[in-house]
Amino acid sequence: MPDIIQLLPDSVANQIAAGEVVQRPASAVKELLENALDAGSSFIKLVVKDAGKTLIQIIDNGCGMSETDARMSFERHATSKIKKAEDLFAIRTMGFRGEALASIAAIAQVELRTKRIGDEIGVKIDIEASEIKSQEAFNCPEGTSISVKNLFFNVPARRNFLKSDTVELRHIIEEFQRVAIPNPQIAFSFHHNNTEIFNLPIGNLKQRLMAVFGSSYNNRLIPVEESTGIVVIKGYVVKPDFAKKTRGEQFFFLNKRFIKSSYLHHAVQSAFEQLLPSDSYASYFLMLDVNPKSIDINIHPTKTEVKFEDEKAIYAFLRSAIKKSLGQFNIAPSIDFNQEAHLYNMPVKPVDGVYKIPTIKVDPDYNPFNSSTASSTQPTEREMSNRANWEKMYSRHSNNQLEFEIKKEEENKETVFTDWDNELKESNLKSSYQLHNKYILSHIKTGFIIIDQQSAHERILYERILDNFERNKSSSQQELFPKTIELSTTDFTLMKELQSELYLLGFEINEFGKNTFVIHGVPADTLETDSVALLEQLLENYKLNLQELKLERRENLARSIARSTSIKSGKVLTQEEMNLIIDELFACRMPYSSPNGKPTITTFSSEELDKRFKK
Ligand code: ADP
Ligand code: MG
Repeated sequence: MPDIIQLLPDSVANQIAAGEVVQRPASAVKELLENALDAGSSFIKLVVKDAGKTLIQIIDNGCGMSETDARMSFERHATSKIKKAEDLFAIRTMGFRGEALASIAAIAQVELRTKRIGDEIGVKIDIEASEIKSQEAFNCPEGTSISVKNLFFNVPARRNFLKSDTVELRHIIEEFQRVAIPNPQIAFSFHHNNTEIFNLPIGNLKQRLMAVFGSSYNNRLIPVEESTGIVVIKGYVVKPDFAKKTRGEQFFFLNKRFIKSSYLHHAVQSAFEQLLPSDSYASYFLMLDVNPKSIDINIHPTKTEVKFEDEKAIYAFLRSAIKKSLGQFNIAPSIDFNQEAHLYNMPVKPVDGVYKIPTIKVDPDYNPFNSSTASSTQPTEREMSNRANWEKMYSRHSNNQLEFEIKKEEENKETVFTDWDNELKESNLKSSYQLHNKYILSHIKTGFIIIDQQSAHERILYERILDNFERNKSSSQQELFPKTIELSTTDFTLMKELQSELYLLGFEINEFGKNTFVIHGVPADTLETDSVALLEQLLENYKLNLQELKLERRENLARSIARSTSIKSGKVLTQEEMNLIIDELFACRMPYSSPNGKPTITTFSSEELDKRFKK
């Protein structure tokens, strides 16, 4: 028998490595942006076509490469960033594995143009599926430009697996932000299909955050700064009042590298303890600087997961630093936010060699949900106007319009549910009872039912919204004073996509300059009076459904709107309101569960009760 083991040809080995390093266009963007950072650039331009499927181009004004280096850069394990094993413990560059360019060139058509600072002439190399097509002297500006065309052209399985342009673009934006946020000393621009998505001038961290997420962040951010022997912490947390319902903006950067860490996330979340409603997440942008010796970033090819020494101590420092800032923010809200202190030059070991946990001074009485206009016992303005809205809704109910609507739906109702009609008609609905401000208890002919008020109302709204889609235009209530809503670039693009569907549902919103919309109207029966908050919540729910359930657009919108506009658990309901919910719930096509599949009703029969009392 002959021997059968062979070394793989480089092109095949590279293609296999690419499977790990380049999963989608966004991964190539990340690697190329990181190379531009490592090259010491002060300006980086990203140009993308068709969400990176056709073209990804990165132009920098960094150090550039010699002719030989340019050729070498496409070899596997070719890097200028480390030379020996010990260097692995002192990494300050983003790259060091020497795989990215080799991998990308194995699965795309790549054109590299580069010239070192001070050189007379540069070089241009064309490479496709790991094969050099041409190499020539070339007159180009100092720095480097890399174009990646037709990514995965020779890996159809990968290409076919790519998601829609919207989804892939969102991933690219995410990677771009992860590089741009911790590097405000570098100017960035980002163009997609000839539109400029970001233009980020050089500035400090706060200015960078505002350039990325919108100027409304100006008064949302609380600075966090702490420096100890093992870690320097610097950055911002978002005020608790602006917390999101979904894990939105949560950024940790370790030595300027974006990392994911559920452990450290927990530290932040616990620092916010009691300041956040239970279903909300803190938003934060935190830069941690540690001695590279104390971490291992080489545990994953994309380097987003990192192992730390001192993990427990960092947890404690982080938590206390944030608690301190939250406390201080209440006492001294006018700290100079623009002071970007030279924290990065701090010595890593304390002079006396002893690590000190920073002391905390927190105002124990501070509650961010109390504002001067509303104390916890008085109803807030929003509660008052909600109440007024409810009343409005009931006056509408008392004219015949709604009754007519219910009747019409009853006609379409499937026979399985007709029993309920009988049950309900013959029972005395006037005697509904609210339990714990969450459940509606009502007796029926053969026992009693308990209804979950929030799930039930979500079901009612959901079906109404789907019907409105069919009917094509539902009525809108005009805003007396149109409000503007400023969004992040991602949310803005998403809102633009949803605009026509939202219009069908009664949302009248128009584009108004960069990343901003004006809200002229909201659906007529909306109870929420803060239209900005309503739209923000709607987008959050929509994004969550998109990520977790991958719902089709109208279905997703119907669920998201039902979610954000429904009556919540905890709301006190009047007798009339309870009866209306019951009426409308049983007029639904599928009254038994919320759109997300949670039960809305549970029943107890009189026999069951009799049994319990041993009758
Ligand atoms: P790594 O970044 O891990 O070293 P890469 O494959 O990404 O590996 O890049 C290989 C080498 O090519 C780098 O080490 C660097 O010397 C050079 N290089 C890549 N991109 C650039 C760039 N934009 N400017 C200057 N040099 C670059
Ligand atoms: Mg690299």
